[in-house]
Amino acid sequence: MSIKYICSECSKKYDPKTLVFRCECGGVLDLEHFDFEFSKDDILSNEWSLFRYLKALPFTKEFNQWKEISMGEGLTPIVPLDKDMPDILVKVDYLMPTLSFKDRGAVVLISKAKELGVKKVIQDSSGNAGNSIAAYASRAGIECDIYVPEGTSAKKIKQISCHGANVHIVKGSREDTAHEALMAAERGEGFYASHVYNPFFYQGTKTYAYEIYEQLDLNIPEALVIPVGNGTLLLGCYYGFKELLNLGLIDKIPKIIAIQASGCAPIYEAFKANKRFVEAVINTGTLAEGIAIAKPMRGKQILEAVRATSGVIITASEDKIVAAREYLAQKGFYVEPTTAATFAAFLNYYKEKNHGIKGKVIIPLCGAGLKKD
Ligand SMILES: [Zn+2]
Repeated sequence: MSIKYICSECSKKYDPKTLVFRCECGGVLDLEHFDFEFSKDDILSNEWSLFRYLKALPFTKEFNQWKEISMGEGLTPIVPLDKDMPDILVKVDYLMPTLSFKDRGAVVLISKAKELGVKKVIQDSSGNAGNSIAAYASRAGIECDIYVPEGTSAKKIKQISCHGANVHIVKGSREDTAHEALMAAERGEGFYASHVYNPFFYQGTKTYAYEIYEQLDLNIPEALVIPVGNGTLLLGCYYGFKELLNLGLIDKIPKIIAIQASGCAPIYEAFKANKRFVEAVINTGTLAEGIAIAKPMRGKQILEAVRATSGVIITASEDKIVAAREYLAQKGFYVEPTTAATFAAFLNYYKEKNHGIKGKVIIPLCGAGLKKD
């Protein structure tokens, strides 16, 4: 399968082997549509990782090094949050090798880099994505440079460097850090393994949808609650359900209820104003730092996805995050503040008027609380 990148703005195509990471017009790259057959019978029932959906993933038939790279990520449980709310389900996506849902995207992206013969990857992150890319790159025998902003905690830097990655500390903001990594990629120093720019990452996060399809035995939920900053889970999940719909395996895509933090909510603002594009905002600060993205590169695509499902974007207020984190811990789940914010916002929305939601709702628990203490 020699799959190409395609520009989301001008449709120009590129070969991933060229290490290009954005179009010359500045547009973000998607993957060109690739055809595959897939039904429940195609699930590899003896493969205990997200590679059980291999037929739906963008690899050649001959490529099997994913077997050496996979650490059994995916296949996370879906369980009721509380016995008194049987329709509110959580998908425990922090039960992953590096303790966050980012492993879905990282394992597919790094496997693809291996298939392309990449020797070095570059990534910028101060959190879960950098950790995840560093771990999988190490496992794949690919050199890895991770750019982090100054002020990143020593604990996080240690986590990343323990995986053998070279950590570059950048003076300035999170945006300055992304710029430095991007410049390094532009100079040809390596393959930009960005969870924002690289469309192969979304081929991994789309397995979130495939798992829901398999685990709920066709009983697809009415709504999906998804935290959104850069849209790595939201877009992947949408692509996955869209594929299942096009394959005739489901008859509708669940409604997406996307959550932003009120201190940094550019996509919410654009949605509310009925705009097609997202304008950057100033991050006024939030505990939900996993979704605090002031200038989301795929904002337009996120708006399109939410609208295509007749979904909605709501915000989490800061004062509810700590209490929601405590509540989830009392239910047995110790999560990151970003996940707590997601839960708090949804509960507020759901309790308000129910908003016509009658069936099951799935909320992802994206990151383990132990990473944020
Ligand atoms: Zn273009």
